[in-house]
Amino acid sequence: MHNPTDSFKLGNGCAIPCLGFGTWQTPSGDTAVAAVKTALEKGYRHIDAAAVYGNEPDVGRGIAASGLPRTSIFVTSKVWNEKRGYKSTLYAFEKTLTDLRLDYLDLYLIHWPASASRFPDWESINLETWRAMTELYRDGRIRAIGVSNFLPHHLDALMRTEVPPMVNQIEFHPGQMQEETVRYCRQHGILVEAWSPLGTGRMLSNAFLATIAKKYGKSVAQLCIRWCLQNEILPLPKSITLSRIAENANVFDFVISEEDMIAINSMAYFGGSGLHPDQVDF
Ligand code: NDP
Repeated sequence: MHNPTDSFKLGNGCAIPCLGFGTWQTPSGDTAVAAVKTALEKGYRHIDAAAVYGNEPDVGRGIAASGLPRTSIFVTSKVWNEKRGYKSTLYAFEKTLTDLRLDYLDLYLIHWPASASRFPDWESINLETWRAMTELYRDGRIRAIGVSNFLPHHLDALMRTEVPPMVNQIEFHPGQMQEETVRYCRQHGILVEAWSPLGTGRMLSNAFLATIAKKYGKSVAQLCIRWCLQNEILPLPKSITLSRIAENANVFDFVISEEDMIAINSMAYFGGSGLHPDQVDF
């Protein structure tokens, strides 16, 4: 990967730009518009949105303000937990599309699996949601479909359907590599995306990462983003700070040595969200 427009390839052949721009906790209004517009100016071509972030209309305004051709931008959104199921997923998709001011999505994800601890019929709920996603995909409304926060047992059921997921977006940062899920995804041709690649900022004060980053003349944020890419995981850093948006895209002019990759890969758990897909109460 040499710049943010270089891409990974999805199972259906669709190219996905290798650096995404996160929008969770980005305040709606002018802040979101400016963040998205700046990201696109700084070379990002992949925006990670979601209905539950409450800012899709402004993310859409930012995309429009960039003036870039629609086909040069890859836009993801996600169906929220309360909208699971066949019919409500179809409605949620239309609302998201209207909010974003788009006429198709590049990628649509199931935001979280129905959790086994709350829903005895979690498997059929996920399958019904997936049926709607598959229909939208077949109708050409979405270029690729996938999931988020799915563990291997959640994925198993979907892998038996006619259109298996192409992406799984999971928490991934130093100390939180989710090896079993990543291995499963690789074996089944599912691209893994990293949410919270900076641990929502919690990675940035780690002294060990700071020592390694210093060797390369880079910030800890840049190290974490580059580290994802070298692990062939697609990072989705978020920032509303214009200088940091540029900084986080400037990760293509250095290579982390194999030795340092192993050292970071071996870090013990720290700075994770603590969220487990089968135990969350939302
Ligand atoms: P990140 O791990 O990207 O960290 C963002 C935080 O780090 C913000 O506080 C930001 O501050 C700060 N920051 C960013 N860059 C720098 C920098 N260069 N130097 C110092 N501080 C920096 O956060 P998220 O948890 O938001 O995850 C990223 C994206 O992943 C989300 O926005 C969302 O799109 C996705 N996501 C998906 C989830 C899912 O369930 N599918 C769950 C969580 C996230 P500031 O903005 O003030 O600059």
